[in-house]
Amino acid sequence: MGPAGPVIYFVGRLDEAANLGDVGTVIPPGHVVLDTSGLTFVNSVGMREWIRLIRILRDRGVITLVRVADVLMAHMNVVREFAQSVRIASFHAAYVCNACGAEATPLIDVMQHGPALAAMQAPRMQCTECRGVMELADFPERYLTIFKA
Ligand SMILES: [Zn+2]
Repeated sequence: MGPAGPVIYFVGRLDEAANLGDVGTVIPPGHVVLDTSGLTFVNSVGMREWIRLIRILRDRGVITLVRVADVLMAHMNVVREFAQSVRIASFHAAYVCNACGAEATPLIDVMQHGPALAAMQAPRMQCTECRGVMELADFPERYLTIFKA
């Protein structure tokens, strides 16, 4: 697994009300793990705050992102610098079941699916409702550009 560090959890909305620069000052120096699975909404102002925080933390150690929220993942894929500044261990993505139409945001393990992700192919997941095949409900570029080989 390599560098880990303390885990910091993010929940709720990442928007005008978020002040992540201040968060950066209270996180101890060294490697850090950020868990954003609790985020429900991200807009462009929140994204600026997130970039600010990542720039503060990346100079102190390795940043590992675990369980990245699907709403954050989509935003991160349009910002080029994240491919270099963070390690993503796992992320959520919007999936839909071919058989029953159920929608879900399953967790995708980056280590397990590394080669497929680098080839911009979202892994198929099993539907928890009917055990059918779930596929990514969006363009692969929206989630996987950051892993592109
Ligand atoms: Zn299903």
